[in-house]
Amino acid sequence: FFVAPDAVTPPTIRITGPLLRHLKDSLRLADGDGLTLTEEGIRRHRAEIIATTDRLIECRILDTTAAPLRSGPRLVLAQALLKGEKMDWVIQKATELGADRIVPIQTKNAVVKLHPDRVEHQRARWERIAVEAAQQSERWTVPTIAEPIALSKVAAAYPSAVKFVLAERSTETSLTTVTLPAGTDQTVLLSIGPEGGWDEDELRLMREQAYSAVSLGSRILRAETAAIATLSIVQSRLGE
Ligand code: SAM
Repeated sequence: FFVAPDAVTPPTIRITGPLLRHLKDSLRLADGDGLTLTEEGIRRHRAEIIATTDRLIECRILDTTAAPLRSGPRLVLAQALLKGEKMDWVIQKATELGADRIVPIQTKNAVVKLHPDRVEHQRARWERIAVEAAQQSERWTVPTIAEPIALSKVAAAYPSAVKFVLAERSTETSLTTVTLPAGTDQTVLLSIGPEGGWDEDELRLMREQAYSAVSLGSRILRAETAAIATLSIVQSRLGE
């Protein structure tokens, strides 16, 4: 589980708030039980519960490991908004596959449009999904869920990123052969269309904005499959 750095005062860690409720009420952890607690991107502690009250779980740190240094570029998944559960699924799997940032994008052919009043609620929900997926896959960091933005604004928001648009049919260039930047200070942006696919104007705009169009092969994949296949290929090519 992730804990805030201010919860950690070696040799103990004090757990309060929603994590306390989860550990006590859902998982029914008690004194003597062990758990692993991560200060996001900083260090990870193996710990043992030594005291439990209604307001606090106190843990004794058994050992501590420093977070490893980043070994490849930052991966940004720019995913066109998908219908309810599909977007949840993409966020969960993209987190497992190591995306650093997920940017929900508004596109012309999207089946779903996010109502402005629902944006913050939806984003908070996606953040919870990302935290849970990061914990279960033992990541050191939780990907950021960016505010949903229009496709036309993505390039300006990531000016130094090497940008790819996943496009079926319109290119012969395979994602498996393109050059990927490998530096830890570099960013790779991977853009996946909605259920209805990219509009021609969108593809033109992205080409003008220096995106490289790449293919995943001759079969048309569902948008959520394309997102997972894309991240799997990129991570495999980066040796991650
Ligand atoms: N109608 C299906 C659905 O409901 O998901 C298929 C949608 S497909 C057009 C959605 C997006 O997945 C595309 O815009 C593209 O980004 C990506 N995609 C699917 N198959 C692909 C392929 N063979 N190569 C590259 N991208 C692909």
